[in-house]
Amino acid sequence: MSTVMSLARKWRPQTFSDLVGQESVFKAITFALKAKTLPQAYLFSGDRGVGKTTVARLLAKSINCKDGPTTAPCLECSSCIEIAKGSSPDVMEIDGASNTSVDDVRSLREGIHFLPFSGRARIYIIDEVHMLSTAAFNALLKTLEEPPSHVIFIFATTEAHKVPDTIQSRCQHFRFRNLTVPEIKNQLQKICMAEALDFTPDVLNLLAQAAEGSLRDALSLTDQIRALSHGGIALEDISLFLGMAPANLERDLLDALLSGKIPETLRIAENLLAIGVDPRNLLKNLSKRTRDLLMSAVLATPLTEKPFEWMQESIPPAFLTGSRTEIFLEQMLTLLLRGEEELRRSPQPSITFLLILCRICHLKDAETLSQVLSSLRNPRAVSTKQEGAPQKPSLRQSETAGQKTEETIGTPPEHKPAPSRLDIRIPSDWKKFLREIKGLEPHDRELLEDCQVQRTDPQTITLFVSKAFFESRVREHIPLLSQSFLQREGQSVTFLTKVQSAPGGQKVPTPADQVKDHHLVKEAQTIFGAEVISVKNQSGQKENPS
Ligand SMILES: [Zn+2]
Repeated sequence: MSTVMSLARKWRPQTFSDLVGQESVFKAITFALKAKTLPQAYLFSGDRGVGKTTVARLLAKSINCKDGPTTAPCLECSSCIEIAKGSSPDVMEIDGASNTSVDDVRSLREGIHFLPFSGRARIYIIDEVHMLSTAAFNALLKTLEEPPSHVIFIFATTEAHKVPDTIQSRCQHFRFRNLTVPEIKNQLQKICMAEALDFTPDVLNLLAQAAEGSLRDALSLTDQIRALSHGGIALEDISLFLGMAPANLERDLLDALLSGKIPETLRIAENLLAIGVDPRNLLKNLSKRTRDLLMSAVLATPLTEKPFEWMQESIPPAFLTGSRTEIFLEQMLTLLLRGEEELRRSPQPSITFLLILCRICHLKDAETLSQVLSSLRNPRAVSTKQEGAPQKPSLRQSETAGQKTEETIGTPPEHKPAPSRLDIRIPSDWKKFLREIKGLEPHDRELLEDCQVQRTDPQTITLFVSKAFFESRVREHIPLLSQSFLQREGQSVTFLTKVQSAPGGQKVPTPADQVKDHHLVKEAQTIFGAEVISVKNQSGQKENPS
């Protein structure tokens, strides 16, 4: 039986120029190497498989190479060769996970007093340093306070927050980032070409996604696929092997979610679970995809372009129609992220998974704020929804005086079939109401238009006039106003008049104040715990609450 060297080992970067991603780490280290002002302690943090140990070894080579400190170690001197083989007596690699005790650190502290055998420095690489015990950290701290000049520490950790501040403050901290899918894919492409591995771009894309930011994981998955695929292996089988949904099914699921089609969504989801796709993977992928959709919508950048680089065929058609608002995508992403957390704790992950998908489908039923406000203004309106057609504006039926009319929400009032309900506290509605009254002289109408209107309670409307002199003239029109109101709105109200306050007197409420004081608005505030930030009139102009 022949063994093949793993791709990750074979393709481990030997020089800084081979490094993929980690530009900021690369820049800072090469800067220090060029300036020859090397810190004595480094902390490398980042997820697993993103290159922390690789960079630690590169740094060791750069320091101890016969040409060092250099940004381009020769790779030929005994030091470079020994470090590459892992046999340099001057470079100690310690696994923090299995050497956690204070005794381990004590023996390390005794060792550091020896001078380097051949290199410039004795370099201690401690992996998973956060696993050390508190006592071990304390012992280490004493060493870090006054390290001998020939010693360099490189700590690596996946959980920097678990490393005590006292240690962190004595280290130069380098944060390693996860690689992007395109970065991993490009690197895989390069390596597969050199290895004469014939994988399609689809397969490479899948591997890059499954690796979750780690090039090492991507390469070890490639190893596994290579072993499987001698007799040729279908893309779907590779997806399933990786615990991922086949791309077309994932797109269909996303499309059904965006369209809010529950039966379709559940059918696809059940299918995916039946073929053995892990719901956790699925949800995580849906989150990532939805994040891309949201970003693409916000940035107005097509998904096929950078930074997304989606394949055209993996874009859900429902997204292309542009029917989904940014707010919807935000809400969908929130539900998915909460769902990931929920799924972790769930005793029945597949049921929880279906439940989360249903919640997303129901998002389309959630009324927008303007719809809620509109039905508050017109409590008799009944909202009906159209199944499966969320992109169409929903229709609202309202019965007025026994006559059934349909009006489209969102259409400005002047385009609505008359008579539409008015809120005469709103100046434009008040003017409209006055315009419709027959037999009102133009100068009388102007006088009435200048009044501030307040609906004190459902049965009373108070008209504020600016001077006592006008009040009697306004009062003359009250019978006409009451009669017109009854005819138009099918409701009888009492009109009162009041003189607008002189300075120091009672303040006349502005339309914005009236909206703020409206009992329905107050009720809505109590229910939703909301506050009124601004009030707009029907033409969209702002009315400032005083
Ligand atoms: Zn060398």
